[in-house]
Amino acid sequence: MDYQLEWNEAGRTKNAPDVEAIKLLQFYEGAALHADPRGYCVCTSEGKDSRVLGHLMRRAGVKHFYMHNITGIDPPELVYFQRANFQTYSDLGYLTYDVMYQYSMWALCRKKRMLPMRQRRFCCESLKERPAPECGKAFKCMGVRKFESSNRMKKRDELEIASDKKRGDNIIMPFDNSEKRRIFETCYQDNQRRINPLAYWTDSDIWSYSKDVGLEQCGLYNEGFERLGCIGCPMARRAGREQEFRRWPKFKAQYLRTAQHIIDDKPDNHYFKQKFRSGQEYFDWWMHDRTQEEANNYQMDMWEE
Ligand code: SF4
Repeated sequence: MDYQLEWNEAGRTKNAPDVEAIKLLQFYEGAALHADPRGYCVCTSEGKDSRVLGHLMRRAGVKHFYMHNITGIDPPELVYFQRANFQTYSDLGYLTYDVMYQYSMWALCRKKRMLPMRQRRFCCESLKERPAPECGKAFKCMGVRKFESSNRMKKRDELEIASDKKRGDNIIMPFDNSEKRRIFETCYQDNQRRINPLAYWTDSDIWSYSKDVGLEQCGLYNEGFERLGCIGCPMARRAGREQEFRRWPKFKAQYLRTAQHIIDDKPDNHYFKQKFRSGQEYFDWWMHDRTQEEANNYQMDMWEE
């Protein structure tokens, strides 16, 4: 597997990334078992990163179980892949949990009276981040990587303590300092603690690891999809969303129907009714690159209802 020279030169990583990740998982296994006798809760979509994470967990030999959030808007091929993998994990003796959403994406949009936008991602909170009783007090392990976005580069790290304040930032720290390890182990025991063993991995680390260990990944990556997740996610680039809507037109049709419902549900004097004559016009605006700039200008109109 390739080494990340830039991190090695900076003294960040002493060994190959997989060796470091396994070391981290084994180091905290005792604390994880203390928090929950089932061990680590591996949060997985079965996309490329969480597939690698699961493989590292099994290789590390640490106790863990798998949890998957059903979003209802994941690509069908990824859903089938996830189901097959969960069957395999279950056959190997691991606990697996599929957590069903409370409201579908379409119900959420009608409830919020808008389609989700970068500045207003109400769907993540409900579909992906809702506290699940299945997880309990377990340490969460995620496939989060700093190189995925500038936001993640700044705000995520190998060790995280989730803030108990509604709007406060999480406490984040790398696994490279004994004082920080002690804080993570002993302080904030009531807060949710998360471990992200892939925090410093790059895309090429993920692919070279998968190749080296013969780890099967979802076939959609062979069709040119670089990232798999919710179809139509407003956080994705426009070209990627268009590619998704071409590939899964039924999801586009459902977004269009929802856009029309949102318009229909508005009072006649609402900004939406004056700006958009149809769900199609609203959908096109939502897909347009300028959507986010305009959203910022109009956010008060849209949210204060
Ligand atoms: S569509 Fe995007 S913002 Fe919404 S739940 Fe999915 S990942 Fe989160």
